[in-house]
Amino acid sequence: MPRHKKPKLAVWKFTSCDGCQLSILDCEEELLAIASRLEIAYFLEASKRTMRGPYDISIVEGSVSTPEEIKRIQDIRSNSRIIVTVGACAASGGIQALKNFRDKNDFLSLVYATPSYICTLDTALPISRYVPVNFALQGCPINKGQLLNLICALLEGRTPNIPTYSVCVECKLKGNICILVSKNAPCLGPVTQAGCGAICPTYNRACYGCFGPKETPNATALASELKTCGFSNADIARVFRTFNPTREEFYQIGRQYERSKKSD
Ligand code: SF4
Ligand code: SF4
Repeated sequence: MPRHKKPKLAVWKFTSCDGCQLSILDCEEELLAIASRLEIAYFLEASKRTMRGPYDISIVEGSVSTPEEIKRIQDIRSNSRIIVTVGACAASGGIQALKNFRDKNDFLSLVYATPSYICTLDTALPISRYVPVNFALQGCPINKGQLLNLICALLEGRTPNIPTYSVCVECKLKGNICILVSKNAPCLGPVTQAGCGAICPTYNRACYGCFGPKETPNATALASELKTCGFSNADIARVFRTFNPTREEFYQIGRQYERSKKSD
């Protein structure tokens, strides 16, 4: 990053719940230190003041799910030196990608009082399906410590130090009793990237993989284990499709078990 002037940072929202942008604001005290090293040029959730591009770093939250968003992400790409996506929606489509596997009109009529006003694509897809992305931070929402690590790494021109091991490692470090083994819960911890501190198993809840696939996940083996534990094919397809349905490692399992669900 050039030393002679502050790099310009922009934060953009696409289809999402805003949770990852709130994680940026949740940095609070650290934000002051960051703001001293960056020019926050565009971040509508934090300030009405905006500066024109080009931008050095664009942080993008949300998935592409409307025709207008396709054009907007292309404009942002051409106006940004580095694009970082944050969260499951941006990396994988997120919850709204549930419509990718059904007729979108089934969802529109359930969610909106007047569906005829809605103009939406048939799919909600990751940002990387439309433009090249330099780095993707996983999570729903992202981990604030990982975000700070990433921003500092970009400022210092080094590789971010984000763990690629599984949630199970965090779970074991907490001394939890495994709920997959002891309670037959459909826990995706073994194939999910660390970052949340294994918060769900810590409170006796199953992991639905919101931090996305870890590096080299063996989703096939975990799905077989869930089958042995008595879960139906439909249940297994659903658990792999909850938060990160378009990530290849989870998508293939979802598709395989969805096709097999007639044999439940
Ligand atoms: S409870 Fe889940 S995250 Fe924890 S060790 Fe068991 S499988 Fe892994
Ligand atoms: S335990 Fe799983 S579902 Fe819960 S926050 Fe962590 S990654 Fe997400």
